[in-house]
Amino acid sequence: MAALLDVVKVLFLAATLLFSPVASSATTTDSTPATVPATTWMPPNADILSHVVSQGETLQSIATALGVTVRDLRASNQIYGTDALATGTVLYGAKSGLVHTTKSGQTLTDIAATYGVTVDAIARANGIAMSMTIFAGAQLLVPGASAAFWDTVIILSQGKASQFIWPLQGAVVSPFGWRTHPVLGIRQHHDGIDIDVPEGTTVYASAAGEVYSYGEQPGLGNVLILEHASGFYTLYGHLNSSLVVKGQYVEKGQKIALSGNTGISSGPHLHFELRNGEFPVEPLSFLPFYYDPTPTARFEITNWTQDHYEYLHEYSDYAYVYYKVTNTGAVDIDYYEVWIEIRCADGSTFQDWTNGSNVPRWGYLTDWTIIRVAGKRVVSVSVTRYEVHSY
Ligand SMILES: [Zn+2]
Repeated sequence: MAALLDVVKVLFLAATLLFSPVASSATTTDSTPATVPATTWMPPNADILSHVVSQGETLQSIATALGVTVRDLRASNQIYGTDALATGTVLYGAKSGLVHTTKSGQTLTDIAATYGVTVDAIARANGIAMSMTIFAGAQLLVPGASAAFWDTVIILSQGKASQFIWPLQGAVVSPFGWRTHPVLGIRQHHDGIDIDVPEGTTVYASAAGEVYSYGEQPGLGNVLILEHASGFYTLYGHLNSSLVVKGQYVEKGQKIALSGNTGISSGPHLHFELRNGEFPVEPLSFLPFYYDPTPTARFEITNWTQDHYEYLHEYSDYAYVYYKVTNTGAVDIDYYEVWIEIRCADGSTFQDWTNGSNVPRWGYLTDWTIIRVAGKRVVSVSVTRYEVHSY
C-alpha cells in the first residue's frame, strides 16, 4: 500500500488529452488517471548528468564540471541561496534544460504546467511511452525549462531553505490574531496576514502540494487552498482569479493565482493563511523572516468632528481628529510624529502636529488629537507629512 501511494501516476494518453482542445468529455476532466498500468521503469536518460559532491567543492566548480550554469544547477536541484553543499549529495544537471525530481502525486501534466512546457516535450525527452508509470524521486529532463522559476523561490524564501516561502512580496499591513475588522468594525480573530499588493499581482505557491479547492467564501471572496505534506494547508483570499485547477500538483514558487479585492475587503490585498489541519497558525512563525531595519508606516485620518469647547474658561472651536498609524515594516516603531492639515470653509489652511509611540511591527494603533480652529468651520482634514523612528 505504501509503495502504491508513492507512485507518481503518469498516463501519457490522459495527459495529452487534457491539453487537447477537442477533449471535453468526462474522462478528461479528472487529472488523476482512474487506473495505473503495470509498472515499467524508465530507461536511464543519457542527457541527465549527475555529480556526487566531494569535500571542498562549490556550486561553481560542479557547474563547470557538468558544463551547465550555476543558475541552472540551483534550479535543477532546488538549492537555495545560502545552502552549504553536503558531501555525498548527488546533484543533477542537463545541457538542454532543467532536471526535475518527481514528487508523490505529481503527473506529467502538472510538471509541464510548472515549467510552462508541453507534456509531449517532456515525454519525448525522457522516452516515456503511453501507460508508463514513473516513481516519485525519479529524475526527468525538462527540455527548454527556464531557471527563472527557481529564481523566484530564492527571492521569496529570502535565500533560506524552508518548507514555506512568501506567496509574494509586499508589506504585511494586518497581522494574525485578534483585531477590529477594518470594514465590519467588529472584534474578531484574523486567521491570516494581509499583504498589501495591487490587484492582479502574481501569487506563488508557498510550498509544494496539491490544489485542494478554489471557490468563493463569505468575506474572503475567491479563495484558493493548497494541501501540503504533514497536514498543512495554505489559503489565499480576495483573489481575482486562479491559474490552477483542483487536484493539480504545484511546485513551491509556481504561479497559482492573481491577487484581487473580492469579498469584504478594505482595498486590494492578499489574505494569506497557514493551517495545521483545520487550525490557523501564525504564518510569520513559518515564513522566512525578512528583517528590514527601516521603519515604514501609513497614516490615515479615520474621522474628524468639530465642536464648541471650553478650555481653561475660554470658549473656542476645536476639531477632534482621529487617525490610524499602520506599521508596514518589520521593526517596531518607537516614536512617530505626524503633521495634520486643516482646511477651512473660508479657504484658509493651517497645520498642527502631534506625536505618539510604540506601534508594533505589522501592527497598528489608533489615536486622536484636538486642534484649535478659532471660530472657523472645518471642511477637511488630511495628513501632510510624518516621521517614524526606531531606536
Ligand atoms: Zn485578511
